[in-house]
Amino acid sequence: MRKAPLTVGVVGGGFTGAAAAIACLARIDRPFRLVVVEPSASLGRGVAYGAHHPLHLLNVRTRDLSVRAGQPGDFLNWAFRQLDQGENHAGLHEGLAHTFLPRQLFGEYVRQRFFEAAEARPDVELTIVNAVATACIDDGGRFTLRFDRSEPLEADCVLLATAYGLSRSTTTGALAPFEALPSDRLASARSVALIGSGLTMVDVLLSARRDGFQGKAIVISRRGQLPRPHAAKGVVPHEIGLPRSKRVSGLTGSVAIACATAEAHGTPWQSVINGLRSSLQDIWRSLPVEEQSRFLRHVRPLWDAHRHRLPLEVHGRVEAEFAEGRAVLLRGSVTAVEQDGDGFRLTLRPRGSERVEALTVDLAFDCTGHRPDLNSPLIQSLVAQGAARADAHRLGLAVEPNGQILSKSGAPTRGLFALGPLCQGSLWEITAVPEIVRQCDEAALSLAKLEPSAEREMELSSYGR
Ligand SMILES: Cc1cc2nc3c(=O)[nH]c(=O)nc-3n(C[C@H](O)[C@H](O)[C@H](O)COP(=O)(O)OP(=O)(O)OC[C@H]3O[C@@H](n4cnc5c(N)ncnc54)[C@H](O)[C@@H]3O)c2cc1C
Repeated sequence: MRKAPLTVGVVGGGFTGAAAAIACLARIDRPFRLVVVEPSASLGRGVAYGAHHPLHLLNVRTRDLSVRAGQPGDFLNWAFRQLDQGENHAGLHEGLAHTFLPRQLFGEYVRQRFFEAAEARPDVELTIVNAVATACIDDGGRFTLRFDRSEPLEADCVLLATAYGLSRSTTTGALAPFEALPSDRLASARSVALIGSGLTMVDVLLSARRDGFQGKAIVISRRGQLPRPHAAKGVVPHEIGLPRSKRVSGLTGSVAIACATAEAHGTPWQSVINGLRSSLQDIWRSLPVEEQSRFLRHVRPLWDAHRHRLPLEVHGRVEAEFAEGRAVLLRGSVTAVEQDGDGFRLTLRPRGSERVEALTVDLAFDCTGHRPDLNSPLIQSLVAQGAARADAHRLGLAVEPNGQILSKSGAPTRGLFALGPLCQGSLWEITAVPEIVRQCDEAALSLAKLEPSAEREMELSSYGR
């Protein structure tokens, strides 16, 4: 009698699910069963790298992206091989390194790397379940995953990579950011309200312009912070020694001073923000919950605007929109959005005012950004059993840095992980590619040490591809 091989269930086949599968294939160095659950046909893409608009650009330079842990230039090398015409190799490679390529291309790279990794492991039995996981039952050391249109699956460990969930509808009553509209609807619109002023707003505004929208864009956000630009050239992270403060005000003050000092010495402020990145999870985890809440209430818009930046060329186009009066920025909060005939009626409270105003527009888009879906039946099933719990801010699930989920009692649940944006409330800096890839690698390393559960002993001969 031999033990059955480990079965790893990865739920969600967006970027994080694909990165998790690639990490497991790289790190678990014995035969195992890998099951990836994804209802859509587009593995590796998810919300960020799908087909919403072929021209949406990555907000990170090619040289800084990789889905393989420990191989930092992997996307650059892949993209280089796609474009290489056999001439001017060095120039093309160098040029590509600093370019912001289309997000769809990155999705294609991730998909290819996933299937290459699977092919390189003939000893791993890979199954893709094309279904929605509706529940995960913790049987004390093993899990049963249930699906909407497939037989249940037993797994030794489950990696949740469901991030922004399945629903693309919004709670505000405005249109979802990438809602497909007849192109004449945009072309004939005289006014569009964009609720939120971050990267999603930029995507929606520039897509609308490409689709023929010539009217006025009214961007509404509480703080009115627009994304800042990347530095003209790729910058080297500049590490600063932050004081060991447990107060957000102290930390933000130190960062502001460090940015100003760097600028005064000819180093772009972006280097300081990049230099902080590797310690942000530790800083976040060391803050008391009240200070984290203070950051979320008061500092987050300013932080996000500096941390999640735009390629210079895209930033220039957004600046021109405002400078030329084709877009205006209103500071305030939208308290209601209602359909009004063919258009939308927004109720708006300007910043610092008690009175509300009405705003009538032809179209209104919710650009407040994507949030992890904690209300899905899958996550709720784990919370109801006490195997998982929301983090203190209800931004995601409570986890260890490697993603291991903390149960209701606070103890880690063996074999159960949440990866990527689902961990934002616990780790904060975990929504972008490098941090997700690192976390997937750490989770896969933990799984590599995990034995399959003892009850699953079976004849070795009954296991095969
Ligand atoms: C628009 C956008 C642009 C970005 N651009 C960049 C960038 O340029 N650079 C960078 O570093 N980062 C970028 N990011 C951040 C980062 O890459 C994303 O946070 C990352 O893509 C998260 O992917 P994910 O797979 O965790 O989530 P998602 O993309 O939400 O994918 C989740 C997947 O899980 C599936 N799923 C959900 N629920 C279930 C269920 N119950 N059962 C089965 N399957 C389920 C869904 O179908 C989906 O495919 C961007 C993010 C966004 C939103």
